[in-house]
Amino acid sequence: MRILRGEFPAVCPGVLGHEFAGTVAGVGTGVSSVAVGDLVAVEPHIYRGICRSCRDGREHLCPDRRAFGVHLPGGFAEHAVVRARNAYPVPDGVSAPVAALTGPLGCAPHGIERSEIRPSDAVTVFGGGAVARSRAFLSVNDVLWYTHGGVRAGPGPNRGASGGVGW
Ligand SMILES: [Zn+2]
Repeated sequence: MRILRGEFPAVCPGVLGHEFAGTVAGVGTGVSSVAVGDLVAVEPHIYRGICRSCRDGREHLCPDRRAFGVHLPGGFAEHAVVRARNAYPVPDGVSAPVAALTGPLGCAPHGIERSEIRPSDAVTVFGGGAVARSRAFLSVNDVLWYTHGGVRAGPGPNRGASGGVGW
């Protein structure tokens, strides 16, 4: 949404779709990690692998990273081309819409672990998008959301969320 509103730098016109999944329609020579017909979740970032962050295993901080749907054609298309190392086969029984949530939902527990918050803690979450909501949903009893889109409220199904305040 921030790209559509012009609030986030992206290649335009381009194909949006940052977090996505799909069925492999073809593979390049020498690819053995995925096969035609596999449902895969796509890791949406590409790194050069040469900076200190990349060498330290913190590729998400790479200043040269590029993202599908932002800098590169994304998943809102009939076909997308991704490197094999960005395509992760998903287990049987997982649907494509659920597989597409792998990235944002993977961020949430990682951030929660790093923050060392506990289930009984009250926290403030900045942002009201999918990642912020998943963090709130997965983490805590009480949440105060700060978003730029106005007041956001809404408890997770098994945890209370106290609401939000716009900025
Ligand atoms: Zn890097």
